[in-house]
Formats: sequence, structure tokens, C-alpha cells
Amino acid sequence: NIRTEIIAVGSELLLGQIVNSNAQFLSKELAELGMNVYYHTVVGDNPTRLEQAIKIAKERSNIIIFTGGLGPTKDDLTKETISKSLGKELIFDQAALESIEQYFVQTKRIMSENNKKQALVLDGSYILKNDYGMAPGMALEVDHTIYMLLPGPPSEMKPMFQNYGREYFQNQLGFQEKIISRVLRFFGIGESQLETDIQDIIDEQINPTVAPLASEGEVTLRLTAKHVDEEVANQLLNELEQKIHARVGEYLYGYEQTTLAQELKTLLIDKQKTISAAESLTGGMFSEQLTALEGSSQFLKGSIISYSNEMKAQILNVSKQTLDEYGAVSEQCAKEMAEQVRKISNSDIGISFTGVAGPEPHEGQPVGTVFIGISIKDSETKIYPFHFAGSRKGIRVRTVKYGCHYLVK
Ligand code: ATP
Ligand code: MG
Repeated sequence: NIRTEIIAVGSELLLGQIVNSNAQFLSKELAELGMNVYYHTVVGDNPTRLEQAIKIAKERSNIIIFTGGLGPTKDDLTKETISKSLGKELIFDQAALESIEQYFVQTKRIMSENNKKQALVLDGSYILKNDYGMAPGMALEVDHTIYMLLPGPPSEMKPMFQNYGREYFQNQLGFQEKIISRVLRFFGIGESQLETDIQDIIDEQINPTVAPLASEGEVTLRLTAKHVDEEVANQLLNELEQKIHARVGEYLYGYEQTTLAQELKTLLIDKQKTISAAESLTGGMFSEQLTALEGSSQFLKGSIISYSNEMKAQILNVSKQTLDEYGAVSEQCAKEMAEQVRKISNSDIGISFTGVAGPEPHEGQPVGTVFIGISIKDSETKIYPFHFAGSRKGIRVRTVKYGCHYLVK
């Protein structure tokens, strides 16, 4: 029976300066491996209290994973304290020592004695290579308890665990199974609706499992399959995905880490189309998201942030009549903004965003009223009206996402 405990070491965690994202990451990974996590412990850079935490952990857990405190400075005491608690000596790991020396030669910096300390490992431990830093991680079994030590910086800890830590546990615990996951990303459907639509599928699944997660108007489903044969695990995922597809496929927009903006980029490059934007309530957020992507100059012509009515009138030539009669937050204004920006920039597509982000109503329109206009050469301009709820930030973020969503549909 596996009882895992994660001990995050670091006074910054207790002071509230950083959140314990290492524990979150490891918990997810361990859950995927089928290892039960029963405790998260956080302890400061204090040897006495760390020793106490180890003592408690030893009694209730048989796998103890530490993060933090493997560095070269005086407050990095994890190894020293564990060494004392377990009665295991610290010895120099030759490979680690060499790679630290090499790093200093390469970067033409002077190595201090402190840096050597990072090459110290617990006697008899299995070394987990650090591909993104100097301090190696390690794992060892003492009295039927496995201890794993990982560095604090997430940029070092995550790849170390994924590339070496997982495998260590799989071998050590005799897991024969391969575990693979696939993330499906949905937009335009709420979490509760999506869950309702596939509730029976979620309920009946044991392998693969389905885990829904919602954030910022998007819903993701993580499908995880286990099997000794990786191909079979993949097949299980394919079958489950097909079932989900049949129900809610129209809302699926991508896989793994993709974003709506990323999908839009792919589509525009693929179709060789250019786009420009007229942004009011989004204040440039749409074009920010596109320019954040490599190669955006291939499809983005530009964006006009026309926040005031003067800008809408003078730069975009929105008619005075529209602004006077319907106001800036109107179907009519969204239509003219999209059409004008497309013409001015000579783009294939023009998109506009106008609305009330709040917290106060504007021109008599309630907070959350938004119009998105999409103008495409030689076709009729489409206007999408919305009544969003939520914060100013939430309304603006969702407006941009819906814009991308309608463009990729
Ligand atoms: P270093 O060699 O950088 O000193 P270390 O292994 O000694 O690494 P710490 O000194 O404990 O690790 O932490 C280094 C940094 O890593 C922290 O300042 C923090 O930014 C990050 N970090 C540490 N622990 C956590 C944690 N539990 N969750 C998220 N980030 C963490
Ligand atoms: Mg440190």
C-alpha cells in the first residue's frame, strides 16, 4: 500500500512569497502513476523543524518526496538534515562534481567551495540527473521507505521528475504499466453542460479515466489510459475520444497545450489569409495574443485600439449617425469597425470588439454587453452579440477568446 508524502522545504513558502506549485505538480504526476498522496507538508529552512517533519513523515508514509534546499547556499539544508535523520553519509558524486566544474569552466566563472556542496549525495542513492541546473536529485530506500530529493526551482524539478523520477518509481514499485494522457480542449460550452452531456461516459470509465477541468471560459478533459502495451493504451484513448467526439465534438478546438490564438494562427497561415483588428473594450488584447506567437507578421496586419468615440470616428470612419443613434456598444458600430479596419489595412479579414467591460454601465448598456464583428471580403459581415457575466478582466478575456473561436469555426 503506497502512502506518499510531499515535503516542500523553504521559508518563502511559509512567508507566502511563493505558492507551493511543486506539490501541486508532483501530486498530479503521482496520481497519474496511481500512487496515493496522503500528505503535503511545508517546512521552513530550519534543520530542527525539518528533522521533526521527517520523523512524522516516516511514521505515516512510505514514500517521502522532498523539494527545495539542494542548492549551494547556507540555508539549503535538506540533504544535510536527511543525512542526519537517516544515518546516511553524504559523499561526493563524481559525475555531478565534474559537470559542475565543467559548467564553471564553460561560463568562465570562479567556482566556490559552496558550489561543490551541490555534488554531495546521500550514500547509496540513485542519482536523478539535473538537465537544467547543477544540483542533482536523488532517491534511496531505507527501511522500506523511499526518499526522493528534488530541487526547488520548478524549471529544474519538473523535467527531473518527468524524465527520471517517474521511471525510478515505475521500476522500483514494479509498475509494468505505461500511462499515457491526452488533453482535449473545448470552447463555447460550459463545464457543467459538457459534464452533463458526457456524464455516463465519465461514470463508466475506469481505464481510461476522464478528468474535466475548467478555467477562463475553457474546459479541458484529460484522458488517461494505462496498459503494459503503449499501443493498446493509445487505442483505448482513441476509442474514448471518439465517443466524446460524437457528443460534444463541435466544441473541441485542440489538444494538449494549444490555445485559441494558436489555432487561429495555424488556420490563417494554412489558408494564407491576413487579418486586422479594431479593438475597443479589449484594448489590444487580441493583437497582443497574436503577436505573442512566432511568425505573426505572416497573417496579422495590425490592430487599431479605438477606445473613444473620437478614435472610432476619426481613425476608423465609423459614421456619426451610428455613434449618435446606436452608440459605440452596438451591432451597427461593431459592423462598421470590422469593415473599416479590414478596408484600411487591406486585409482579408477584419474583426472588431466593442462592449462594456464594467464595472459601470456605459451609454445605457449594462456591463457585459459585447459585440464582436467579423468582416470577410466579399461576404456579409457577421455580428455576434453577448451578455457576459463576471469581472472586467473575465469579460475582456472571454471577448478575445470568443473572437478567436468564431474565426476558427
Ligand atoms: P537553488 O539551487 O536555486 O538554491 P534549491 O534546490 O536550493 O535550488 P530552494 O533554494 O529551496 O531550492 O528554492 C529555489 C527557488 O525555487 C525558490 O526561490 C522558488 O522560486 C522555487 N521553489 C522552491 N520551492 C518551491 C515550491 N515548493 N513550489 C514552487 N516553487 C518553489
Ligand atoms: Mg536554494
